[in-house]
Amino acid sequence: MDARLRQALERAAEVERQLADPAVARDSAQLQSLGREHARLAPPIRRVWDDEIDQIARDLRRWVELMAADPDGWIPEWFELAFGLPPTDGRDEASRAETVRIDGRFVLRGSMDLVERHGPTGVLRVTDHKTGRARVADHPLVSGGEVLQPILYSLALEEMTGKMVHEGRLWFCTSAGQFKVVPVQLTETSRRAGLEVLEIIDRGIEQGLLAAYPKQGACQWCNFGAVCGPDAERRARRKHAAKFQDVIELRERE
Ligand code: SF4
Repeated sequence: MDARLRQALERAAEVERQLADPAVARDSAQLQSLGREHARLAPPIRRVWDDEIDQIARDLRRWVELMAADPDGWIPEWFELAFGLPPTDGRDEASRAETVRIDGRFVLRGSMDLVERHGPTGVLRVTDHKTGRARVADHPLVSGGEVLQPILYSLALEEMTGKMVHEGRLWFCTSAGQFKVVPVQLTETSRRAGLEVLEIIDRGIEQGLLAAYPKQGACQWCNFGAVCGPDAERRARRKHAAKFQDVIELRERE
């Protein structure tokens, strides 16, 4: 969760606690000040807010139950393990401010939601949590370039720790995502697939052509709609397809 959002939620809960305190009720100045803050932080429609919070609580409970019931011997090792990012509240102490270079040429920075160690063998796996619907295939490699975290985080983790990484996975950890797990094992094939995507991105930068070229329907589910505007797909249809051959071929890959 975004640190500023968490702080705002914590402050809102604290303000509500203080407003319920009889001692505060007798202090009109403090009461007014807290009242103003409450009006600023309180949700516009309480019922909608409460329903959403209840849903989040149910999902969290189910998520923890599933983690606790994992029969395969995976033990949580690091949370929010960052690389190439400044240390901030909420990042794991094992994080490092330096970037990671994979395959000796691609510099990456990021933050892994969860890294686990397999008790019996000591190998690692990395998990990227997703809160939306699961719109990916069951056994992807890079899913046409749309699923990159499992392989790229695995490669970064391997580089950071020097340890063997078994797999990266997406975990759609809400009822909206039906708690679906999408694993991608780190094999020679998946390693190569991840590096090929980076090569394509690199080539785009080198050639000065890293323009938006969404496939049909992609913008509908994308979080960057506010950045790209409402008609990104229509504009893409007017671009010269020949210039996007790399991207078109990438979309064909598993
Ligand atoms: S909204 Fe922008 S980033 Fe998202 S799919 Fe469409 S063009 Fe791509």
